Amino acid sequence: MAKINTNFSKLAAGYLFPEVARRTRVWQEKNPGVKVMRLGIGNTTEALPRVLVDAMKKKLDLLSDRNTYTGYGDEQGDIPLRQALRDFYSRKYGVELEMDEFFVSDGGKSDSANLQELFSSDNIVAIQDPAYPVYVDSNVVGGRTGEFNPKTGCYDGFVYLESNAKNGFIPEVPKCKVDLIYLCSPNNPTGAVATKAQLKAFVDYARENKAIIIFDAAYSAYIEDPELPRSIYEIEGAKECAIEVNSFSKLAGFTGVRLGWSIVPHALVCENSGENVLHNMWNRRQCTFFNGASNIAQAGGIAALTDEGYKACSELVDYYKGNAKIIREGLESLGLVCVGGKDSPYIWAKGPEGVSSWDFFDMILDRCHVVVTPGSGFGPAGEGYVRVSAYGHREDVEAAVKSIKENLKI
Ligand SMILES: *Cc1c(COP(=O)(O)O)cnc(C)c1O
Repeated sequence: MAKINTNFSKLAAGYLFPEVARRTRVWQEKNPGVKVMRLGIGNTTEALPRVLVDAMKKKLDLLSDRNTYTGYGDEQGDIPLRQALRDFYSRKYGVELEMDEFFVSDGGKSDSANLQELFSSDNIVAIQDPAYPVYVDSNVVGGRTGEFNPKTGCYDGFVYLESNAKNGFIPEVPKCKVDLIYLCSPNNPTGAVATKAQLKAFVDYARENKAIIIFDAAYSAYIEDPELPRSIYEIEGAKECAIEVNSFSKLAGFTGVRLGWSIVPHALVCENSGENVLHNMWNRRQCTFFNGASNIAQAGGIAALTDEGYKACSELVDYYKGNAKIIREGLESLGLVCVGGKDSPYIWAKGPEGVSSWDFFDMILDRCHVVVTPGSGFGPAGEGYVRVSAYGHREDVEAAVKSIKENLKI
């Protein structure tokens, strides 16, 4: 008799985005003909840079000829892409890694979910609160928590690292001993970016406690301030204690194309493993459970890392950051307190005192016809906030911000 993985049934019901969609639909039914504007979704909207499209077309042409056709590639990714990633880290970040420390994937989300498989189910997990939901849910399914407590919005067994106005939305290191730590900077949902000193504190903590940091740098290309770290390996000692996850999704508009990478250094160690053990485990895992990323997407990824390709990607990133600036200035002109939107595409805005995230969401939808994302959906510390996303066409963002400025009245 087959039995289900009962950890699945612990997952908190009412996933955030379906509930946003439901409320929006209900509102639209009550207000037919009124145009709903969206600043809610973390999905790219602008066309791919021409150089990336040309590179992918060229790859397709090669596939259409039996003399140049290729089937499965290396599970770890095509060598030219891994070399390009290695060179990119060296050139842009001053971080020296080896080519085989890069594992190309079909995206950062699946890597973020899969990496927990490397770790014992009795590890204690620390999660930034609020957080991108995949870190939480993958560890719930992996059996590292007790039940979800609807009163507190927390799972028993997790250590929540609260991001709040007092700590500038970058949490302090855990006060107790934890084994796995999930960090995301620039952060989704808050848009806050950790400084070198703040990351160093986590690296020092991890080395002292033989803990592992899983560092999600999906928005690293949005960092403009040269003082802010774009890779955790800019911090000395991080290769011993950190895995980095990244993606072409927000860098190159590959949300639909699908391409990412993770870095699992040779030097990474934990309590019961020496050098190379975790690296080899991830290699083993990818070779049996994964057959490599699309070769067409990888051709686009290689193009994105050339000087010309990266310049085109940076223009795309700048476009979204231009949207972010319009949103942040618009919200601040109403007296709303915001973070993010500077080295990040997300703005984290505090609602009026005493108003919950969902009530603030309803208020913005009702008065301004704009959909945002309730902060409480990312964790209990998100209560009272909303996330406003800079992904959208400029004219739509301008119209939404104009409507908020004219109609929110708080
Ligand atoms: C968008 C995003 C990613 C990228 O996911 P892909 O699967 O590569 O599209 C990863 N982490 C965070 C926090 C994100 O917001």
